Amino acid sequence: MSVTTSPPGTVGTSWERVNLGFVSAYVLARNGEAVIVDTGVSGSESAIGASLGVLGLDWGDVGHVIVTHLHGDHQGSLPAVLNQAPQASAYAGAADIPGISSPRELIPVGDGDQVFDLEIIATPGHTPGHISVYDRAGGLLVAGDALNGSDGGVIGANPDFTADIAMADDSIAKLAALPFDTVVFGHGEPVVGGASQQVAALSSSL
Ligand SMILES: [Zn+2]
Repeated sequence: MSVTTSPPGTVGTSWERVNLGFVSAYVLARNGEAVIVDTGVSGSESAIGASLGVLGLDWGDVGHVIVTHLHGDHQGSLPAVLNQAPQASAYAGAADIPGISSPRELIPVGDGDQVFDLEIIATPGHTPGHISVYDRAGGLLVAGDALNGSDGGVIGANPDFTADIAMADDSIAKLAALPFDTVVFGHGEPVVGGASQQVAALSSSL
């Protein structure tokens, strides 16, 4: 699945879902450069490479790798991905960095930080250092496990795997204040169209 999230005629961000089965990673691309958000379980690097190819890019075009949180199904292929993309910088939320295995130093990011013109939104709760990635111009939110896709809609963090559900709900309220058309998740199908309204409705129900 490849979707251009900006209107035709503008220099927009394209994105590709790396559907790894029960978890997904994402490749965002603009002007011939790519950002990888999450890396799947270990052994996912070839699928990520294939998604780069769908966007007309290869490993040499990857400037940045962002890990939304420390869970193994999101960071498992980080060492392999960084080996494939030796020039890429890698980022995660400060509180999760000690729990992430990386061959290179991870750059701590949070509210107010930008990577490749993408805004980092601190969304703690699922894990203490969970972050989401927001393409304001393109109307795309990469929510990691702060939200989940379910039945074509959006639900909150999975309480079975969430460190602090009250904090996770507060993070959903924070995301609900942002405008975006599309939201994509670590788990579940992307919601394309009217996504921020769905997140706002979810937040007011929590
Ligand atoms: Zn998780």
